Amino acid sequence: MSDPRHAVLGCARCGAATDHELHYAGRLLVSSSCTVCGLRIDLDVRRRYLSDLASRIRSKPRRVVRRLRHHPVTFTAGLPRSTVLKPLRMIDEVRLVLAAAERARRRTEQR
Ligand SMILES: [Zn+2]
Repeated sequence: MSDPRHAVLGCARCGAATDHELHYAGRLLVSSSCTVCGLRIDLDVRRRYLSDLASRIRSKPRRVVRRLRHHPVTFTAGLPRSTVLKPLRMIDEVRLVLAAAERARRRTEQR
């Protein structure tokens, strides 16, 4: 899983602005959790993720060429590593999206 990003957001349980961990799958926010009380909010982004993923796949060749033109040495040096890690990152993203969707579904059923 990619490293979480952090933001100060209002927490309903803490009643204050607190640090939150934000987990993204690609460009989509999948879950946020308060680092103080642990309150977690999961979003079911499965449909949006598929659409976003299709868009990312379509634009990948263009982005690769742009990176190669602007940063040829960095791009070439990082290619072996990114070639190995990209499939693993994709698996992590899909797992994150599915797990968050399942937690969101369970939370909806509890109401
Ligand atoms: Zn909190």
